Amino acid sequence: MDFVVRQMTSNAEVALVRYDCECGCKPNAKYVHGAAEVGHEHCCCGNVHFVGPGARVALEAYLAERKTRNEDAGRCEYALHETELDDPWGGKLPVAYGIPARHTHG
Ligand SMILES: [Zn+2]
Repeated sequence: MDFVVRQMTSNAEVALVRYDCECGCKPNAKYVHGAAEVGHEHCCCGNVHFVGPGARVALEAYLAERKTRNEDAGRCEYALHETELDDPWGGKLPVAYGIPARHTHG
């Protein structure tokens, strides 16, 4: 996925991490400069991305919790990926994302 990092026009301390999803959506996750909290967005098609320190851990916890509630039934497992982007403040921004395995077992 090609992620784009933008600074929120109304708040320079907020970064928006967006990508053009194959389903036509443009999911946006928010991250506040220096925050320990991660932001995330879960697209209607099942793709999900997390932004911020500990993005990978948060993504795994999120998917594990969904699994216990069986919300991803029929979507099988997610393939998890990690990357790092340049943030608007001269640092690095960790991003983790999951793509559901589709077209399996009907
Ligand atoms: Zn999508």
